[in-house]
Amino acid sequence: MTPASLPVDPFDLVIFGGTGDLAVRKLLPALFHRYVAGQIRPASRIIGVAREPLDDDGYRGMVRDALGKAATDLPQQCDDFLALIGYRPLDARKDEGWDGFAALVGERPDNIRVFYLSTSPELFVDICERLGKYGLNQGASRVVLEKPIGRDLASANKINDDVGRVFAESQTYRIDHYLGKETVQNLLALRFGNALFEPLWNASHIDHVQITVAETLGLGRRAGYYDRAGALRDMVQNHMLQLLCMVAMEPPASLSPDAVRDEKLKVLRALKPIDGDNAAQLTVRGQYRAGASEGQSVPGYLDELDGGKSSTETFVALKAEIGNWRWAGVPFYLRTGKRLPERVSEIVVAFKPVPHSIFEGSVGALAQNKLVLRLQPDEGVKLWLTIKDPGPGGLRLRHVPLDMSFAEAFGVQQPDAYERLILDVVRGNPTLFMRRDEVEAAWRWAGPILAAWAASNEPPRPYTAGSWGPSAAVALIERDGRTWHEDND
Ligand code: NAP
Repeated sequence: MTPASLPVDPFDLVIFGGTGDLAVRKLLPALFHRYVAGQIRPASRIIGVAREPLDDDGYRGMVRDALGKAATDLPQQCDDFLALIGYRPLDARKDEGWDGFAALVGERPDNIRVFYLSTSPELFVDICERLGKYGLNQGASRVVLEKPIGRDLASANKINDDVGRVFAESQTYRIDHYLGKETVQNLLALRFGNALFEPLWNASHIDHVQITVAETLGLGRRAGYYDRAGALRDMVQNHMLQLLCMVAMEPPASLSPDAVRDEKLKVLRALKPIDGDNAAQLTVRGQYRAGASEGQSVPGYLDELDGGKSSTETFVALKAEIGNWRWAGVPFYLRTGKRLPERVSEIVVAFKPVPHSIFEGSVGALAQNKLVLRLQPDEGVKLWLTIKDPGPGGLRLRHVPLDMSFAEAFGVQQPDAYERLILDVVRGNPTLFMRRDEVEAAWRWAGPILAAWAASNEPPRPYTAGSWGPSAAVALIERDGRTWHEDND
């Protein structure tokens, strides 16, 4: 067994917001899968906390429903897993009930304690203050903060300061679930485990990088949160910058948490500023109008907001540059949006063309080599190469992907990112979590873009639901003589 598949030490995982969407849809199923894999010992406990007046059995019923088919397929394991689960009704903003909760957690003083704050960030401070006040930060305790960490640098600093009054930085795990994805791990393996890529991984050989995070969904039930945030805060400032860092960072000396995070931080600090002087040239923001998604007519963003007014962007495309020796002059094109034609997250590393073609007169053009790392829906890696079309008939060139779709190649179901990340918290391994200085550096770069948009008074550009965003996003990359990657390129 590798260390990553060994059982972890017994823990108490308290999920604040245990009845919420994230807990029910992601965290509890992830824990069940790790339980079935034999990594969670029976001395562990999972305690849901929210205001809803449930008892243990009521919550277990909710968890069983959340597990759905997985629970019916594995009834005995489901019952055993549910036996680890309890619930405490608590209001993070009131002291009532906290004494009893502290006594419950205190029953297993030797268990590692993980306090997972799966609530709105406005509650982080209340929860942490009470965890301190009721003496719950003891022994091996850690706190997990869900995104978003603030809505700008000042509010992020306030959250980090307030949490920091109770938990040390070494106990604080700021989760970005994109970093837990198999493909992101594989990016590290590809870059630093092969002699092949790293010598080419620089401005001399790489033409540009694209990072796309596209959703087909509209606002859904997170309208209140999303309209206050928008695509830049929701996706770019955290997930997409983290992906950019994993592509662009220098080789860390080791995989130790700070070695990796130090290198990511250097990338964030080297991002060239985008502000009032250049935001109009380097960024495009959009908002969807009515259209069609997955064959169905769908309303526009403002209609989903009940006809309200809003200049919140549901789409962003931008051109970032990293001002250092490795990446000088290499654009990183980022785009993300809601109500786009397909749900896909991928990183495309496009290499420069060969310096001289000897294939004049051959059929088929030379195409760019591309390394495409797909994070969803099917995690995998494709390396696009030019080969000779097999068979007689002269030298005909073809552009084909060397495909390594993980699920097919290895016959395994990839674990959800949360499965890996929750167990990393229990193990005390923060490599895949954002350090405070990374969050600050990301806000320092994103803040001036938001400020430039606010100052411009220009509304976001409309785009039809089901399209790839405003035409200006196409123009952004085509001005440079490049195009957004399509999978059949
Ligand atoms: P949600 O569905 O609105 O759930 C919020 C949870 O907090 C509920 O369990 C709610 O239960 C509880 N809560 C609210 N006020 C409380 C209080 N005063 N004291 C104790 N508990 C309270 O939110 P969510 O979608 O799960 O998101 C949770 C966090 O994860 C947010 O920070 C969100 O941005 C982040 N996140 C979510 C997703 C996702 O896919 N959902 C993805 C990435 C990040 P009661 O009302 O019964 O108290």
